[in-house]
Amino acid sequence: MSNPNLPPDIILLVLKVYEARMIYRQRDKKNILKRDLQVIGLRSEIITLTLWESLATKVGKQLEDMINEKPIIFAKGVVGKNFNGFTLSSTISTIIEINPDLPATKEMMDWFNETGYRHSSSHLDAYLMADLLKINTSELSSGEMKHYVTKVIIKGLQHEESIWYPSCNTCKSKVTITKDIARCSKCSKEKADYSLRYLIKLYVEDDTSNAIFTLFDNEAESIIGVPVSELENIKVTNIEEYNKIIKSFLRQGDDLHS
Ligand SMILES: [Zn+2]
Repeated sequence: MSNPNLPPDIILLVLKVYEARMIYRQRDKKNILKRDLQVIGLRSEIITLTLWESLATKVGKQLEDMINEKPIIFAKGVVGKNFNGFTLSSTISTIIEINPDLPATKEMMDWFNETGYRHSSSHLDAYLMADLLKINTSELSSGEMKHYVTKVIIKGLQHEESIWYPSCNTCKSKVTITKDIARCSKCSKEKADYSLRYLIKLYVEDDTSNAIFTLFDNEAESIIGVPVSELENIKVTNIEEYNKIIKSFLRQGDDLHS
């Protein structure tokens, strides 16, 4: 699935439907509608499928209405992109069938019910459910890496000015940019190739304690629903839209993995 040359026709199970958003496309200076879906392919990882224009409104809305049933879609004519992680995107010729009567639909359902449940937030007990106080104290005492699921309220951002950083394409460290030239001190390289990556520090709390959660690129993008390069573009071209996106992101009291 991390292969951008995957077949353009693919069976996917829809885990989450994000809100449709109007975005500004630099290329042709047009406002276009997009909607991200969190989907999972057979025996695969969770990825984002972006629907554009009428697919975002019509099919997106249909899927939103039936999300609790975990709809399965047959997406014909989608493209894969390897940019800030692998994502799928609809094209002008994409056709989406919901719960198609195909053997592959049943295979997907069976696989998901058997193993895919771990990816579904409606089956949180597959992870260790814990409150923040427990996570804080156990992490400190044991020093080992553990995975928890916790329900928290997002109180705000630690660094409001910027939720991304210019990252060296080789080592992912932060590069310093002076007069348009990026320097990576870790690679000791002048003119390093770099791209933007999300790094979001959130103040969170629950009834028991508080903490700072760090979201890296992929998690941040899947929660915000917009790739970092696009969000930067929105920030430059339409600050109101940017503020709206950040606000709705901060409102999501989502289940965050620590
Ligand atoms: Zn580097």
